[in-house]
Amino acid sequence: MEFHTQVSAGPAQQNPEKVKKLVVLTARVHPGESPASFICQGVIDFLVSQHPVAQTLRDHVIFKIVPMLNPDGVYLGNYRCSLMGFDLNRHWQEPSPWAHPTLHAVKQLIVQLSQDPVGLEFYIDVHAHSTMMNGFMYGNVFEEEERVQRQAVFPRLLCQNAPDFSFSNTSFNRDVVKAGTGRRFLGGLLDDTSYCYTLEVSFYSYMAAGSTSPVPYTEDTYMKLGRNVARTFLDYYRHNNFIDDNKLQISNHINSMEVLSQGRQGNGNGNGRTSGSERRAERKNQSITGEY
Ligand SMILES: [Zn+2]
Repeated sequence: MEFHTQVSAGPAQQNPEKVKKLVVLTARVHPGESPASFICQGVIDFLVSQHPVAQTLRDHVIFKIVPMLNPDGVYLGNYRCSLMGFDLNRHWQEPSPWAHPTLHAVKQLIVQLSQDPVGLEFYIDVHAHSTMMNGFMYGNVFEEEERVQRQAVFPRLLCQNAPDFSFSNTSFNRDVVKAGTGRRFLGGLLDDTSYCYTLEVSFYSYMAAGSTSPVPYTEDTYMKLGRNVARTFLDYYRHNNFIDDNKLQISNHINSMEVLSQGRQGNGNGNGRTSGSERRAERKNQSITGEY
């Protein structure tokens, strides 16, 4: 059963020797969290578009995307569990091929990818949150300060790109209750050059920069966050010099990108880049109530 989506095209396909990075994204392990599907849709729409940022990413990065980890739960209209009543996001440690078949298959794929010479660098699992506002991330806790700092780079970059993403709501934890989640389990499995996150987005609204009232999320703004997640990989790989600015035919274009508010009905080139004056209002003093 081939249910994962690989987005990989462009000149690098003709040159298999070229080193690429590998990113795995999963969504909808909790079937009631439909905003996760719109984010995933935004990521995919952007990556397969003709936008120059997407073309550059495809030349340098392989994206493996599993848009729906719990299709039977979604079909049944369950909020959190699979057909058999399991919260799949607590079974990453020992998924059973008969009780948690999608999780078992995806875990096997990720373990296999982690042994690939290309190297799995990012794992992001997309969820929606019923009490918090904005988009934000959960990450893992490490002893080495240097690794902690490295892990913070991607959410910081995403915070610069997405007006609804909050770095101050982003947190790093090792709660026992989260031990069976994808983010926690794979954080322990993958080597120290890999990064595992849960990406959460509010079910209802975000605080935009300079505003005192919350902005309700829509399907389009969820997809826009997905596009911003996708394009943040370019910033990340430019930041660490994996993608050389000299090889970019598009650097001027990247720096001049503006917010595109249209959704899928747009031209397929949406990117959602914000200007410096549009940084999101950080929601401070909000307690993290948990990962859904
Ligand atoms: Zn969830």
